[in-house]
Amino acid sequence: MNNIEIFASKLAEQKQAVMNELKEIAIHHTDTDDWEVRTDDIDQTDADENLRADDVEDADERVATLAELETRYHNIVRALNKIENGSYGICEVCNEPIEPERLDANPAARTCLTHLDEESSLPLA
Ligand SMILES: [Zn+2]
Repeated sequence: MNNIEIFASKLAEQKQAVMNELKEIAIHHTDTDDWEVRTDDIDQTDADENLRADDVEDADERVATLAELETRYHNIVRALNKIENGSYGICEVCNEPIEPERLDANPAARTCLTHLDEESSLPLA
């Protein structure tokens, strides 16, 4: 296996793992590849006000977890697409090759080590 194949199989594994986590808390709209948080299993009709507040908190927490997982999911899908079109391993900020140790640590990395801080502000799509 060459390096790209190793990264591709790591990414495929990570994609499956993230999808499993997402499926626990969200519904996948395959047409748009979007995830929508699931709250149908959180009972928000408790008569007790305190219990109801807990439920709202659970739902909020889930929205935050979903946002984080969704970012990971999209970055993995993006990296797999880059492998397909031959642009894998290139920093999206400076267009220079991403350091191998950075890709080893995170095969879905979008930036080189110099532009690490800018990754979170890159557009998701
Ligand atoms: Zn860079």
